[in-house]
Amino acid sequence: MTNTAVVSYEIIDNIGVITVNNPPVNALSQALRAGLQAAVTAAQTDASEALVLICAGRTFIAGADITEFGKPPLSPSLPEVLITLENSRKLIVAAIHGTALGGGFETSLACHYRCAVASAKVGLPEVKLGILPGAGGTQRMPRVAGVKAALELITSGNPISAAEASDMSLIDEVIEGDLRAGAIRYARDLVESGAPLKRIRDITIDASLLEPGFFENYRKKLAQRARGQIAPDRIVSCVEAAVRLPMDQGLQVERDLFVECLQSSQSRAMRHVFFAEREAAKIKDLPANTPVRDIKRVAIIGGGTMGGGIAMCFANVGIPVTMLEINAEALERGLGIIRKNYSITVQKGKMSEAEMAERLQLINGTTAYADLADVDLVIEAVFENPDIKKEVFAKLDAVCKPGAIMATNTSYQNVDDIAAATKRPQDVLGMHFFSPANVMKLLEVVRGAKTADDVLATAMQIGKKIGKVCALSRVCYGFIGNRMLGGYGRQAQLLLLDGASPAQIDAAAEDFGMAMGPLAMGDLAGLDVGYKARQAREAAGDKIDPRTHSIASALVEMGRLGQKSGAGYYQYDPQTRARLPDPAVDALIKAHAEKFGIRQREISSDEIVARLMYPLINEGALILEEGIAQRPGDIDIVYVYGYAFPSAKGGPMFYADEVGLKNVYDSICRFRDEQGAEFWKPAPLLEKLAKEGSTFAAWAATQE
Ligand code: NAD
Repeated sequence: MTNTAVVSYEIIDNIGVITVNNPPVNALSQALRAGLQAAVTAAQTDASEALVLICAGRTFIAGADITEFGKPPLSPSLPEVLITLENSRKLIVAAIHGTALGGGFETSLACHYRCAVASAKVGLPEVKLGILPGAGGTQRMPRVAGVKAALELITSGNPISAAEASDMSLIDEVIEGDLRAGAIRYARDLVESGAPLKRIRDITIDASLLEPGFFENYRKKLAQRARGQIAPDRIVSCVEAAVRLPMDQGLQVERDLFVECLQSSQSRAMRHVFFAEREAAKIKDLPANTPVRDIKRVAIIGGGTMGGGIAMCFANVGIPVTMLEINAEALERGLGIIRKNYSITVQKGKMSEAEMAERLQLINGTTAYADLADVDLVIEAVFENPDIKKEVFAKLDAVCKPGAIMATNTSYQNVDDIAAATKRPQDVLGMHFFSPANVMKLLEVVRGAKTADDVLATAMQIGKKIGKVCALSRVCYGFIGNRMLGGYGRQAQLLLLDGASPAQIDAAAEDFGMAMGPLAMGDLAGLDVGYKARQAREAAGDKIDPRTHSIASALVEMGRLGQKSGAGYYQYDPQTRARLPDPAVDALIKAHAEKFGIRQREISSDEIVARLMYPLINEGALILEEGIAQRPGDIDIVYVYGYAFPSAKGGPMFYADEVGLKNVYDSICRFRDEQGAEFWKPAPLLEKLAKEGSTFAAWAATQE
């Protein structure tokens, strides 16, 4: 055959070696598909005895070329190419390194044998983009790995290691040493031992191994986990088809459901999140080659809820951390919580004792600032008190080496004021983690007025290294996320006064796809947190409308602090922690409505959702106009990764575009007329775009 730019072929030791080379990740572009099909077809009649499919560069075919999504299909389609591979008269060995994901792993499943290096990872992550494997993955995987394992893998979308894949028979041979030489040797051995041409399509699944009602039960379980998402449900239908129907009919079911998912608004939203996440990592006015500072040692000031979690993030990637506390007792408490958190992970079987010991060894405690002289990055996570924070920064300024980056994890304080407590404001910025910091994916990187470019670039890079999704914010009260949340929380309170019950409000938010409704969330975080924050604001002279907190404050004053005191908006079952509606709370709400002269009424779920979501959108529009966020997509990332906004709705700004900005704007004007301008003031940018019939996405394109 003739070699193309992306697919080449040579015969070594009577084995035809097909090499794919489509940097950077060997995505399945049209040229790759066509080249692969041509190579396998040509090899049928040459002197080779068997074929090896291997990739150049850092990985096997990592997946589909998602830039082709939403465009007219280009021939040959991947399913067609895979039929050619599977029907090859010469056996084909896929040789995997790096990550074989999605279409990449499906390609290997159409081969007759799979070998891999031990560091390889394989998986079918399509569900994370709101779609399903559309090139036979749902049909071939259960035939090899079994129905249950295949369902887990495809509905979670999480990749597995070569060793796990080998245990599930998805990989036939793990290769030590050079993959290319090992794969050729393996193919030779197969030929010489007369190994059969193993076509996965020829395997029949034994349905009698599944308990009655298995698929229905699985669907129910998934419905709780993947609230309202269609792709996981359709994956179950595909796997069910793999059990019940012959291969070709199963493939047809998969194709039809793939197209349904691909065309859904959920998939559009999830693909938006995918691209927005990558875009958010880029700082518009920073050249890509901005230098970064080396981060070898980190210090955390404050070992409370946040400090401990942040310390774990660094230890988890092998970076030594020094945690500083006010005294030995507080330090021991902080380190104790970290130890407990790791042991829970060990108990769950997700970490070995040895790994835990390794990580704990990387976390040291101190009460002396002098011990921080060598660190490259300090993250402050002490009490949310501006004076304490400034004092800490002045001390850091005195001991830290020149060039050390100093970050604050403050939720609300002014980063520029904190920077001014040092003589090096260019080295200061905000790194705002979310609770629990070792779990939540979002990191808001807050750019102070004087923050140096390389400090910002370093923060974004180290954020990525510790597994966070970073989004840049400028300085304002609450930064992007918490600032937007203000109106959401206020509306939850006003909805209670207007006649919606806590259960009704939370159910509407949860049916929309939020992981937890606003009142259940308040109970989880502790109602005293907001109470204390309001007290501080009022002490500083802020006037807060009593309608926006009188119920929450009354609950705190009754000792109902939320889950930690066993009751808040709900009562909590001490054993199961299940939330139960409480007539005493209903009576309290009624009494407060009467006090404010509010006549309670029936409120629809649609109204609840609009009143909760539209304040996010309106504040988001202000944040864009003020240049606090770089792009609407960055705001979406903040909400999806920091506030569990449903990725299947794409984030508040994407959702606004889907609803139509005119509809959002008209509703906000109506709410303003009903509830007053103190609660609803349409953002000028929203008004402008709504009147032009435009979208946030179109506006963003004009700003790049
Ligand atoms: P916390 O009360 O759990 O922990 C604060 C810790 O700081 C305590 O252990 C305390 O002993 C220690 N500390 C106080 N003053 C100190 C000092 N001068 N030197 C050294 N240590 C000192 O508080 P937290 O929830 O971890 O919050 C810490 C910071 O993170 C706050 O600024 C908060 O706004 C922010 N934050 C909190 C959350 C959250 O959900 N809890 C989320 C994001 C950001």
